[in-house]
Amino acid sequence: MPDQCLVIPGSIDTHCHTGPMSLKGLATDKLLRDAHRDGLRHLIDVGISPIDLDERQARLAGFNWIALTSGLHPSEVASPDRAKMLDLLVSQVTDGCIVAVGEIGLDYHWDTGERADAIDLFDAQVSIAVEADLPVIIHNREADNDVLDVLRRRRPRGVMHCFSQSPEFCRYCLDLDLHISFGGNLTFKSSDLIRESARIVPLDRLLVETDSPYLSPEPVRGRPNHPGHLGFTLRAIAAQRALDVAELSETTAGNALRLFNL
Ligand SMILES: [Zn+2]
Repeated sequence: MPDQCLVIPGSIDTHCHTGPMSLKGLATDKLLRDAHRDGLRHLIDVGISPIDLDERQARLAGFNWIALTSGLHPSEVASPDRAKMLDLLVSQVTDGCIVAVGEIGLDYHWDTGERADAIDLFDAQVSIAVEADLPVIIHNREADNDVLDVLRRRRPRGVMHCFSQSPEFCRYCLDLDLHISFGGNLTFKSSDLIRESARIVPLDRLLVETDSPYLSPEPVRGRPNHPGHLGFTLRAIAAQRALDVAELSETTAGNALRLFNL
């Protein structure tokens, strides 16, 4: 089956990993150019380790509509270079070359290190972001309570990325003034709870993302994901909320522009 694309003009993909797209065999540069030509306004290329920021900046230098972030993903918790990477993150934040600290957070599904260390690492990065008045991009997998603890203590601005939890947890995040971003898994048949969460997020706090190359939405589920698929998720949220998809695209893009100061 050939790939299908749906780009709603003016939309913004707030979470994408362009490096891994190529590793999945995608023609990344062409896909990025095509998506922009079809109306994708901005894209945020999200880091998982501060070490590769230079490489990402060089690779994406020709795409002035793409913004970058940096942060240590929870998968880096056991890295021997952790302290060095945190120092590097601080210098990147000071340089002003990134629009957010992320993705950071807790992942108890993979549990790649001691939980106490993971919480320390998350907490340290949230503090760095708060200090610099930058938003955070939060990864949470099976760690709801510990993620909330850190967020309640530090009160950062930011977004819960690829929101996959219940409306109850969604309300806790909204109470912390966070934005909520939905990705392709919202379109899956079994994702009733995620769709329910998407219905309760105030329109001025809603964001969308592809998390490319992961989590392709229906009807392209199972293929490597890319930003040209963003419209399928927007369309599914619009249907849930009985909104016009162009309007929803405009609204979510406005939210992204403000949160990330694009
Ligand atoms: Zn991600």
